[in-house]
Amino acid sequence: MTVTVPNHGLVLVLNCGSSSIKYQLIDTRVDEPLAVGLIERVTDHATGVAEVIATLEGNPQISLTELAVVGHRVVQGGDEFTAPTIIDNDVERSIVKLAALAPLHNPGHAAGIRAAREAFPTIPHVAIFDTAFHQTMPPEAYTYALDRRVADEHAIRRYGFHGTSHGFVSRATADAMGADVRQINQIVLHLGNGASACAVAGGRSVDTSMGLTPLEGLVMGTRTGDIDPAVVAHLGRAAGMTIDEIDDLLNKHSGMLGLTGYNDMRDVHAAAEAGDHAAKLGLQIYYRRIRGYVGRYYAILGHLDSITFTAGVGENDDLVRLNSLAGLEELGIVIDAERNAGRKKAPTLISSDDSRVQVWVIPTNEEREIAVQSLAAIA
Ligand code: ADP
Repeated sequence: MTVTVPNHGLVLVLNCGSSSIKYQLIDTRVDEPLAVGLIERVTDHATGVAEVIATLEGNPQISLTELAVVGHRVVQGGDEFTAPTIIDNDVERSIVKLAALAPLHNPGHAAGIRAAREAFPTIPHVAIFDTAFHQTMPPEAYTYALDRRVADEHAIRRYGFHGTSHGFVSRATADAMGADVRQINQIVLHLGNGASACAVAGGRSVDTSMGLTPLEGLVMGTRTGDIDPAVVAHLGRAAGMTIDEIDDLLNKHSGMLGLTGYNDMRDVHAAAEAGDHAAKLGLQIYYRRIRGYVGRYYAILGHLDSITFTAGVGENDDLVRLNSLAGLEELGIVIDAERNAGRKKAPTLISSDDSRVQVWVIPTNEEREIAVQSLAAIA
C-alpha cells in the first residue's frame, strides 16, 4: 500500500514585472495566503526583492526559515518549457532569451529571478510558465497561415497564455462535476482584465484564443483581441504611426477602454444602464466575441461537456455570463437565471438541469496553483 504524503512547506510566489513585484506567501495547508503584497515603481529588482523580504520579516506571524521554495510566474516559456521547471543558470538564460517573444514581460521576470536567487541562494526556485499548459496543442491549432520560413525563423506561432489558470480550472470543473478530467471535453473562459478562451479535451489544451502574445482573441479590458492584421500596416501608412505607437494602441488603449472609455466591467455596465450608447455597443461586441469562440471550440471539440467561467469578470459578472451564452439552447447550453445571479466565491453550477452542457463558475487562484506546482516540482 502506498501512502501519499501531502506536499507542504511555505512557498513564496513572485510575479515580477518590469517595474513591479507582486508576491504572496502561501502555506498550501491553509486556505488564505499568509501575506499578499505589491511593490510598485521598482527600478532595481534586487532592492524590490529586499523590500519584499523586509516586509515579510517584519511580520511576527511569519518565519522565513520554513521557506521551502520560491515559485516564479513566467509569461513566455516558448516551445522549450512544457512543465514547471527548477531554475538553474541555463533556465535563467533561456528565460532571458525568450524576451524576444515577450518584450513586455520576460525581462522583468528574468531580473526578478536573478534578484530572488541571490537573496535565497540555498532554496530551490521554480519557474511556472503561462504557456506550458498549451504545449499540448496540435500543430494545426498553433500554426499561423504565414510563410513558413518567416514563421520558423522568428518562432512565430500560437503559444497561448493563462495556462496555469486554464489547467487548474479545467481540473476543478471536472472535480465539481464528479467526472474524470481525462473523459470530458471542456471550454474554459478566463475573463479578467486580460481574457482568453481554451478548448480542453481530456485535460489537455487543444486550442486557445491568445496567440504569439496575449493580444489575440477575446475583447479585453484594454486589448483589441482579434483584429484584421492589415490594420497595423494601414495605421503605419495612413496615420503615420510607429510600430511602438501601434503596439501601445492595440494593447493599452483599445478593448473595452477604447470602445467605451472604461476598462472595468462595473463601470461599463453602469454607463450602459445610464443609457450610454457606446457602452451598450461595447457590451454587445464583448458578448458576441465570447459566443463566437464558444461556437468555434464546440465545433473543434465535436462534443462538449462543460463551459466554465473564471477570473474577475467570469466570477463576478452575471450579465456577461448570461448574455454571452444567450441563444445557444439549440446547442444544449441553457443558463438558469436564478443559479447564475450574483457573484460567485465558490464552484457553482449555473446551467439548468436540462442543459446538455453543464455551465460552471469556478474561482481561479493562480498564485495558489503556482505554489502547489512549485512544491510538486521539488518533491
Ligand atoms: P487580471 O486580469 O488583472 O488578473 P482579474 O481577473 O482580477 O484581473 O479581473 C479584473 C476585472 O474583473 C476588472 O477589471 C473588472 O472588469 C472585473 N470585475 C471585478 N469585479 C467585478 C464585478 N463585481 N462585476 C463585474 N466585473 C468585475
